[in-house]
Order: sequence, then structure tokens, then C-alpha cells
Amino acid sequence: MESNRIDIKSLSLPELERELLEMGEKTFRAKQIYQWLHEKLATDFDQMDNLSKYLRRKLAERFVLTTLWPVDVKISQIDGTRKYLFRLSDGNVIESVWMQYHHGNSVCISSQVGCRMGCRFCASTLDGLARNLTASEMLDQVYQIQRLTQERVSHVVLMGSGEPMDNYDNVVRFIRLISGTPGLNISQRNITVSTCGIVPGIERLAKEKLQITLALSLHAPNDAVRRTLMPIANRYALKDVLEACRNYFEKTGRRLTFEYSLVRGVNDNLQEAGELARLLSGMHGHVNLIPVNPIRERDYVQSDRKAVREFQHYLETHGINATVRREMGRDINGACGQLRKSYLEEKEPGKNPEEKEDSGV
Ligand code: SAH
Repeated sequence: MESNRIDIKSLSLPELERELLEMGEKTFRAKQIYQWLHEKLATDFDQMDNLSKYLRRKLAERFVLTTLWPVDVKISQIDGTRKYLFRLSDGNVIESVWMQYHHGNSVCISSQVGCRMGCRFCASTLDGLARNLTASEMLDQVYQIQRLTQERVSHVVLMGSGEPMDNYDNVVRFIRLISGTPGLNISQRNITVSTCGIVPGIERLAKEKLQITLALSLHAPNDAVRRTLMPIANRYALKDVLEACRNYFEKTGRRLTFEYSLVRGVNDNLQEAGELARLLSGMHGHVNLIPVNPIRERDYVQSDRKAVREFQHYLETHGINATVRREMGRDINGACGQLRKSYLEEKEPGKNPEEKEDSGV
């Protein structure tokens, strides 16, 4: 993104007011502009027809109004889930997913272009991190989807590509903007941030006075198994991660979600269910079981239905709430980062050095 103009959609209303004052304008103009950006979802200063032409020109000189361009959409024939591929102003592409539930429409957004966490089963991380997304680029995933579907978005999950805690400031700014008024005013209780377990990030988030849900990607009942799946487990021990989660609950009163992707023969036997039940006993939260979504580059296999049911049953009968996540959009490359990856391979071949056989798994 060009650096000399200010990214207007990432500014809070008080920040925009200060900018307008500096420009010699009245502060009420800031509110009008803010409403254009965050309620009417304008994509160009020229759409702001209650501002003079002169002011619109001055705005365009001082600010940049970034928008994402939809380059592809895949619609699931099974459940109507839509997967969007957006192009950013610097040419990078990201993906976002729109899902319909009985409780409303949910958008799963990316927080980074790629990811550097290296989780073994995840497609988003195969080519590493390209860059962080700005708050406006996170907002625009929701705004564009609401424009394209013409339906109100009620829930947002930060479970697309990227590690939110690795882009902390922009993520928190995004949450405040999307839940604020004026703006889409999406309830913080309907916003979920998923993390691979970066302890200082969880501790910081606990102090932000937000009412969002924290989801922890657990995926294993002990450090040894977790380290085989998630490199971040070498950095933070489960004991400390769970301590940070406990503290998050105490500070915010928000129950946690523990995500557990079931991989056949790796983390899905009943002994592991037992270990998990002991690990989480007394924690305020529930387990979300996700049969792992296999990616081409790795040979991890989904646990079969029976193993998933038994694992869930074991947890339930040992005092741990557990649900099996409905798999949305299976037929459209549902797993994190898969659509972007296949797009890059098709449209920009040669950009992915990761084509070699992976024998280390
Ligand atoms: N970086 C964050 C959020 C992004 S991923 C995190 O680690 O939580 C959102 C969730 O999907 C995480 O729990 C992640 O571990 C999981 N996930 C990624 N790829 C998957 C796959 N192929 N199958 C099942 N779950 C996957």
C-alpha cells in the first residue's frame, strides 16, 4: 500500500475528527464521512454526495480509501457457503468465507496474507507470511461480503488465514471498529478470535475490556503430541497457555472455545480423550471437534465418524461439553487457505516452491 496517504477506513471516529480539524473542516463532517465508510459501505469518495466536490477532492489527496476486489467466488451446492477470493491493492490475494446459520450470517475473515505459525495440517502457512492485513482490509472483507450478498452479517470469526495475535494491534482496532457505532455495530459477543496459543497475546487481550469469544487451537491433550502438529507448542507450554485462558475467563467472564482437529492415529484415541478431559476439567469452556480437513501437501487423514462420535461421547460423559463442528463448504475447498493456494498455483505457477514431495510427516 502506498505510504504517503492515510488509510482512512482504519481510523476511529475521534481520529477522523482530528484529521478533519487539521484540514480546517468542521468535525460534523467526520461523522458524515465515517457513516459513508462504515454504514453505507462506500468504495469511493465520489459516492459521498452530501460533501462538496471540493472536500471530496481534498479527501482523496490526503487519504486512501482501500477496497478489496472480488476475483473469485465459489458457492457450495451442499449448504450455500460462499468462499470469496479478494485481491488487495498491492496485488496479494486473501480468502474469506460466508456461512449461513440459523442464528444469522457469519463471515470468517483472514487476519494476515499467509501465516508463519507453521501448523502441520494447515494450508495457509505452507508459503509462510507475506504481510499483515490492515484494520481496513479486515473490515472490507465483511463490508464487501455484505454488499455482495445483500444480507446483514451478524457474526464474525477470525479463523481464516493468519494468526490474529501476530497482528495484534490491527486486529484489536478492527474489532473496535466493526463492533462500534456508527458502523455495522456487530455485537462483540458475536465475534470470535482464534489463536494458536501465543501467551502474551492472550494476556494482553484479556485486558482490552472486550466481550469477544476467545478460541484456542488446542489439537492435542499434551505438549508432546501438540509439538508434532504445531511449532508454536515449542515456544509455549500447554500449562502456561491454559493458565492464560483461565485468566482470560476471570477477567472477561467469557467462556472459551477449545478447537480440536481430529487426525486419525495422531490425536484421536480414547486415551487422548481421557487426557483431554483431565486437562480441561474446571476450565470454563467447551470443546469444538473438527475432523481434520486433509490438504494435498500433507498425508494427515480425517478420523472416521465412529472415532469422532466416541471421542465426543467420552468427553461428554466426563464432564466436558463437546460439539462436532458441522463441516461447511466441503465441496469448495473449505479448509483455511486452500482456495488461495490453488488460485496461486493455477494463476501464478512457479510462485510456490513447496511442490516437492513431503516425506517428513
Ligand atoms: N491462527 C489461528 C486462526 C486460524 S485457523 C489459530 O491457529 O487458531 C482456524 C482454525 O482452523 C484453527 O483451529 C486451525 O488449527 C484450524 N485448521 C487449520 N487448518 C485445518 C485443517 N486442514 N483441518 C482442520 N482444522 C484446520
